[in-house]
Amino acid sequence: MVPEDLPPVNGPWVSLKGVVINNDLQILHETQVQFDTDLPEFRTHGGVVTAEDGHTITAPTLLWVKALDLLLDQLKLAGADYTSIAAISGTAQQHGSVYWQRGARHTLQSLEASKFLHEQLARSFSTPNSPVWMDSSTTAQCRQLEQAVGGAQKLAEITGSTAYERFTASQIAKLSQTKPSVYNSTERISLVSSFACSMFLGDYADIDYSDGSGMNLLDIHSKEWSQICLDATAPNLIDKLGTPVASSSIQGPISQYFVERFDFNPDCKVASFTGDNPASLIGMCLTEGNIAVSLGTSDTLFLWLRSPQTLLEGHILCNPVDKEAYMALLCFKNGSLTRERVRDDCAEGSWELFNELLDSTPRGNFGNMGLYFDVQEIIPFVKGDHRFNKANDRVHRFTSMEVEVRALVEGQFLAKRAHAEDLGFNIEAGSRIIATGGASNNKSILQVLSDVFNAPVFVLVRVSGSLSIYKYRYPTQFRKYTVLSLQEAANSAMLGSAYQAKHALVAEHTSFSEMTSCLPPPVLACQPYKDAAQVYNPMLARYRRLVKSILDTI
Ligand code: ADP
Repeated sequence: MVPEDLPPVNGPWVSLKGVVINNDLQILHETQVQFDTDLPEFRTHGGVVTAEDGHTITAPTLLWVKALDLLLDQLKLAGADYTSIAAISGTAQQHGSVYWQRGARHTLQSLEASKFLHEQLARSFSTPNSPVWMDSSTTAQCRQLEQAVGGAQKLAEITGSTAYERFTASQIAKLSQTKPSVYNSTERISLVSSFACSMFLGDYADIDYSDGSGMNLLDIHSKEWSQICLDATAPNLIDKLGTPVASSSIQGPISQYFVERFDFNPDCKVASFTGDNPASLIGMCLTEGNIAVSLGTSDTLFLWLRSPQTLLEGHILCNPVDKEAYMALLCFKNGSLTRERVRDDCAEGSWELFNELLDSTPRGNFGNMGLYFDVQEIIPFVKGDHRFNKANDRVHRFTSMEVEVRALVEGQFLAKRAHAEDLGFNIEAGSRIIATGGASNNKSILQVLSDVFNAPVFVLVRVSGSLSIYKYRYPTQFRKYTVLSLQEAANSAMLGSAYQAKHALVAEHTSFSEMTSCLPPPVLACQPYKDAAQVYNPMLARYRRLVKSILDTI
């Protein structure tokens, strides 16, 4: 059972990856450990274990520890020179949690270099299985939390999200209610990211603001744990969480264990680790005023927000690059698969023909407008095909395939703009859209995106399917600034955490933009036509009215 509200932006968590980059942010070494096949003794499927109820989905915590043992050996075999690593950061799935047994801190602080981590940490967890982001077994705890704080809206105002089953608060509440002795014997609760960080630190790492905002526990405005949420979740919880810290902070020097076992330099710094979504924002080098649009199986928007609006749908997180700012994610389930369906219906399954049809219709589509949702959409909460003519009358069919194709693409992007603006995103002069994902190869689709948002669209250069990886030669003089990043899955998030490792080192005197200026810039794909605002601003208002009329009839 996968929760319906937010498909994984970065795919399932099936592996642990490590990458070493140099001072110019170029990749030196990369390797990965596949959970199911490299560690079959844990009997995971897709990196997780699903209980018979179909809702309880966990991962054996020790699997992740053993994967780290393997990965560090593999990276070394691949030629990584650990003596030159200046900083380490990492990213992991958001929301998942790890429960350290009383006494585990002492074990972390006194790891023996001659032994594997998994041998020494085998008895360090009060529950052997960590709930992961796919878990949906905590509906009762979600309702309790919302009720205790004064309703869903109030919870969203404090923590950036209404209560979600996978979020950590309801997972902790479930543990405390169903296994109080396990909860009471827990010395510390980590997110998966801060758990991984703890191993490098040789002590409990603090949770960073961005990953912490996926818990329903952090007050995203004060950046402190919310007392009302803590009280509603479990007794004495604050004692088990540590202090939240900025995502670009250094947590301390690397543990002596890694110095002795792998020859890490004792000066190597451990930066905060963060969640996959914040790390993706870093990896795409998103900056203020810009928006990233991932056009994959589902479509996802990443927004950089200065003053977020709290909505019942969508998630506001603390921004991992700028601690005064926020970020939001908006996921639209009806993305490429819906475009493929209309392509198959109207264009014989050919993107070329689809584009010819799209390009042959004018901006504004003669006043016709369509909204297409093959599966229940999250925002707006609508399903089915909805077509309207110029007079806003419902029609069953449009007069031509051309009109149908344009109605689909315009409708999809109007929805994205409307809901991005609802969350507080404003397109300003200088705003840019960064397009990624499979459909970002399609210039005709990107042109409509550019026109609807009235902003230029850029694409990231891709080599071998990953973001901004360039086959440069690696100058040896930069090796002392080598940075190591660890992550399960997704390249943008992985690179993001590697960039964050360097950012944490230089943040005091160098901005993130300056630091990443050595990367080749995104490439301009489309500019909006001059009449774009004139055409699409009124259509945006119409989109809102039409969605309201559809929702009123449900
Ligand atoms: P995922 O979300 O699974 O990572 P991708 O980002 O790789 O997926 O995107 C896959 C989608 O990209 C496919 O569903 C396909 O419809 C779409 N796609 C691929 N090429 C094109 C194209 N030329 N035009 C429009 N869509 C495309």
